[in-house]
Amino acid sequence: MAERMGFFTDTSICIGCKACEVACKEWNDVPDDGFVFRATSYDNTGSLGADTWRHVAFIEQPGGGSGQEGVEGWLMSSDVCKHCTHAACLDVCPTGALFRTEFGTVVVQADVCNGCGYCVPACPYGVIDRRERDGRAFKCTMCYDRQLGGLEPACAKACPTDSIQFGPLDELRARARERVELLHGEGRPEARLYGADPGDGVGGDGAFFLLLDEPEVYGLPPDPVVTTRDLPAMWRWAAGAALSMVGVVAVSFLGGGRIR
Ligand code: SF4
Ligand code: SF4
Repeated sequence: MAERMGFFTDTSICIGCKACEVACKEWNDVPDDGFVFRATSYDNTGSLGADTWRHVAFIEQPGGGSGQEGVEGWLMSSDVCKHCTHAACLDVCPTGALFRTEFGTVVVQADVCNGCGYCVPACPYGVIDRRERDGRAFKCTMCYDRQLGGLEPACAKACPTDSIQFGPLDELRARARERVELLHGEGRPEARLYGADPGDGVGGDGAFFLLLDEPEVYGLPPDPVVTTRDLPAMWRWAAGAALSMVGVVAVSFLGGGRIR
């Protein structure tokens, strides 16, 4: 197993240029997703999906005035699959289309996916998605093919501000903690890490973030939990119930024989 690799996305230096979205689409040949003007935001891709593997959110910060003056600024954040340590999408896939790579990332193979869609509700972040035109599931692969060739993922390569950093996960976590301390020292107490804690409900994320507000503001769940956490206990209960049923049927047969 190679060193675990990851993404550190520092949203405090994102300028919303969307170069990461474009680079991802170009390298991975991801089809266009409509690019509609949504009338709710300047963001024209809306959310992660089967055809958007990196999504740069523009979150308007309300100011005191009206119209243009009513917007104080934007929070910008490039979201992506979290490549969870405990990945429920991987747990529920019946075909083995989802697998963990030697870099510790989670990849879906389109040619093995049968389109059952079990992975979609299993993801605690709402990341993985089925493509309407063919039914199969797609998401970020952290550019597995580029990593195999010793290259960094396309989004990190294209980001002009280094908001997206790629590297060994332990190094990224240490760098991120230093960055948070620096921002706190500069009078930005709102800076915090999201997904960097191996003790959280998914065992930590292979793609984590520096945020400037609560996770909910960015559309992220505050306390994600691996959705398959209770599966072993549920299987034990189901097996116990099945055994009890067999016992009841056996006793009733034996009892019936004695009466005759
Ligand atoms: S974020 Fe969702 S799709 Fe990505 S690895 Fe975790 S469970 Fe799977
Ligand atoms: S390329 Fe970098 S700066 Fe531009 S939108 Fe993406 S994360 Fe932000």
